[in-house]
Amino acid sequence: MQSDPSQSPTPLLADTVIRNIGQLVTIAQQPIDEASGPLQVLENAVVAVHDGKIVWIGREHDQEHEFQQDEETRSDSITIIDAQGAVITPGFVDSHTHLLFAGSRAAEFHLRRQGVSYSELLAQGRGILATVQATREASSDTLTQLALQRLNTLRDYGTTTVEIKTGYGLDVTTEETCLRLINGLSAHEAVAQGLQGLEKVRVVPTFLGAHTIPPEYRDRRSAYIDVLTEKMLPSFVGLARFCDVFCEEGAFTLEESRRILTRAKELGYQLKLHADQLSASGGARLAAELGATSADHLDFASDEDLDAMRDSGVVATLLPGCSYTLRSPYPSARRFIDRGLHVALATDCNPGTSYCENMQAIIGLAMSAMHMSLEEALLATTINGARALGLQDTIGSIEVGKRCELALWSINDYQEIGYHFGTNLVRSVLVES
Ligand SMILES: [Zn+2]
Repeated sequence: MQSDPSQSPTPLLADTVIRNIGQLVTIAQQPIDEASGPLQVLENAVVAVHDGKIVWIGREHDQEHEFQQDEETRSDSITIIDAQGAVITPGFVDSHTHLLFAGSRAAEFHLRRQGVSYSELLAQGRGILATVQATREASSDTLTQLALQRLNTLRDYGTTTVEIKTGYGLDVTTEETCLRLINGLSAHEAVAQGLQGLEKVRVVPTFLGAHTIPPEYRDRRSAYIDVLTEKMLPSFVGLARFCDVFCEEGAFTLEESRRILTRAKELGYQLKLHADQLSASGGARLAAELGATSADHLDFASDEDLDAMRDSGVVATLLPGCSYTLRSPYPSARRFIDRGLHVALATDCNPGTSYCENMQAIIGLAMSAMHMSLEEALLATTINGARALGLQDTIGSIEVGKRCELALWSINDYQEIGYHFGTNLVRSVLVES
């Protein structure tokens, strides 16, 4: 993938050149340097970008190219960014969040720690239905402002692409509103609305109407599934890239999940599942059967089902923020990695079980509590996050032809990641759009 400067002395079109990169952690699939390790770390590096895409990667002293602006568009000179010897990695890809919501469940977090059960919390009007009620009652403007704050936070910590699910509306009108708001958070809409700073985050929308049965359908669950399959899914085509289902005891059964996801697949959605989080629900097997892009949580998935996922190319997304919040056992990452699955890590940012926008914290938990190496955790939060969104050919690594979505760190040795904890080590993100 790398251009060889010694054989390409002709000027190369570029509009941005990032120089003086102490360590460029490329996560490239192809070795770019014989001395580089599993992450492909290039020292004293330069990256050239044209029209939002990476066009050249190399070492500073090898760099014999002259970069020039496109004749037709050369209104400005080439932008030179000095990384000041710091580390650059791909921007994080957070492939699983629920960050569009209103209301707070901080009190619930502390009540759980005092031993109050989830069913007792539900009886008190807390739990997921409290978020559904608050989200239904919130104005679009309030929901947008809350989501913008969270997006700004996750970007500050190095995330450049984030998936956002609906699932706190659970009626046709609110689910559609939430999907439109999520789409509105993406680059062009944000700029058009004058929302400062958001042009740097790519948003991937997911429809999760099958998050839980809404209270008004508690005794008529099959009627709600009719609404999902016959009203919501057909009318939301084009608004969501993915359809997700919470396949779990207390949420949607295996057969209900199969029905919803089969309909979504017919309509052209890509598929995701919340699978086997609290019990062996069969969700992992269903993900393999239907060719889902990812299955997420997977704490109780059997070895056979994980093998089926691997053979079908389903990404396993692990969410240690839930284990932290619920004080439940962390998923065994080794079990997944050693079986040859692609493992992604994500925040699962949501008000009930993981209120976290910070992928650096997720890396810390994965290394500390899930026995992942730094290399594995970086792969899981970049290229495998991209894989969990079907975007591995576009983002998730620093390679010629990929989009320029980078995290510029305030450290000069990438091994400080996970070691120097509890502080934000990312200086900024660099996204050329
Ligand atoms: Zn989730």
